[in-house]
Amino acid sequence: MKKIYEYILGFKINSSPENELLNNIEKDLNSNKKNIIFNINPLILINHYKDNKTVSIINAEKYNIPDGIGVVLASKIHRGIIKERIRGIDLFLDICNIAQKNHKRVFLYGSKEGVANKAKNELLKKYPKLVICGIENGYVKENIALEKIIEFKPDILFVALGSPLQEEFIINNKELLSNISIIMPIGGSLDVVSGNIKEAPEFYKKIHLEWLYRMIKEPKRFKELYKLIKFILVVLFRNNCYNKKVKEDL
Ligand code: UDP
Repeated sequence: MKKIYEYILGFKINSSPENELLNNIEKDLNSNKKNIIFNINPLILINHYKDNKTVSIINAEKYNIPDGIGVVLASKIHRGIIKERIRGIDLFLDICNIAQKNHKRVFLYGSKEGVANKAKNELLKKYPKLVICGIENGYVKENIALEKIIEFKPDILFVALGSPLQEEFIINNKELLSNISIIMPIGGSLDVVSGNIKEAPEFYKKIHLEWLYRMIKEPKRFKELYKLIKFILVVLFRNNCYNKKVKEDL
């Protein structure tokens, strides 16, 4: 059987091409299988690689996507099978398209007051038949957001709280949200879709330096640079050790 998973710092990452991934996600959605789609980037890896609980919850999922050129490079360093980066925002839009096609209900949770509503309007321009059954901003109390999400019974929940908040929200409330077919953290995607934040220019995208563009635009992100350096060092020198540990625990 074709190998589709690769481990990096103990995290199981899916290496399937985007079209194959989307087909499988759509099939699962229509056969009522539940999935959490984690976007794996170097910051998530470095924030959580020592946290056994988070690693095992993420590894129980089958669609952990390589969202970040750092993950592709890490794979290259270890002669792995992840060849292609899948941008979280692209997957988010593709899943909206799948939702429209299959008449599934979408809930947008996160970002500042008003942003999700603007994003909703933009999404409806692109996918006019998409059912966005509810929205909530990411600054209300967590239990208020949770109650609303559960009450609105979405099939698909997008969580735009930024990392690590969004992953923590999903992991901590997994049981309460267990009726939802797809749950996916989407970082700042609502800011981009709403037009509040400009995407990196094509030039940065082409050379996979969007993260640098974001740092220049939002200098507070420079503190993430040390984490990226740490990521490179851990990937170079400790990758096998963390992968081995996870495989032994399986
Ligand atoms: N955010 C939120 N609630 C919070 C903190 C952040 O809804 O308590 C939102 C914030 O408004 C922004 C998103 O989370 O829309 C974070 O985006 P960012 O680009 O920082 O996420 P990343 O892609 O870096 O994880």
